[in-house]
Amino acid sequence: MGEGKTENGPVLAVFAHPDDAEISSGGTLAKWCAAGRSVHLLVLTNGDRGSDDASFDRGELAATRARETAAAAELLGLAGARVLGTHDGDLENRAEVRAEVVRAIRSLKPTTVLSCDPTAWFFENRYYNHSDHRNAGAVALDSVFPGAGNPHFFTEQLEEGLEPWDVKDVWLGWTNEPNHHEDVTGFMGAKVAALAAHVSQVQGEGIRFFEEWLPREAEEAGRKIGVRHAESFRVLDLE
Ligand SMILES: [Zn+2]
Repeated sequence: MGEGKTENGPVLAVFAHPDDAEISSGGTLAKWCAAGRSVHLLVLTNGDRGSDDASFDRGELAATRARETAAAAELLGLAGARVLGTHDGDLENRAEVRAEVVRAIRSLKPTTVLSCDPTAWFFENRYYNHSDHRNAGAVALDSVFPGAGNPHFFTEQLEEGLEPWDVKDVWLGWTNEPNHHEDVTGFMGAKVAALAAHVSQVQGEGIRFFEEWLPREAEEAGRKIGVRHAESFRVLDLE
């Protein structure tokens, strides 16, 4: 893809859980916000299973995570963040979910949609990808094409005044097949701070783990393009 080609226009980030965007792409999102791009986040589940404590009330956890998402969005500089009501762990690539993403695309008219790679099942035989993450990536891709740009999908939205919209490029984080490393030098602080706003997820030692691991991961990606910190993506140029 041409360097600089995509560095303008609105962005829609689509992820499964309230803290996914920060962990996978927080540096890039903060960088785009700082550059003046209007970046919106759509979280497809409410994160209500994001706890190992069986005594946690799931409704309360969802409410807490919605507040944390708003706080993190402010730290990144996002133009907006919405959390949908699907239960954590129950995300499927269904028409009802795609309708929400297509509606967001047709409303916000993003040049770029950012999500995660739905084909990434295994990471170095150390762990495998959450089904919600894979499904979120599939929902995002299928909403871009064939969805938002085709007037025969979700026609009720057109009757409401929305118009078909063609997204120009899709960026997929959490991928095993990166073809682009985005320089996020100077934005790791914002990334870690935004993640730390998800207090329910990083209590105790949690944030210390990420404070060590995220810069190390970013340094590894950065070495590939000769910068201090980078985030890796599979970028699809749809133009
Ligand atoms: Zn997640």
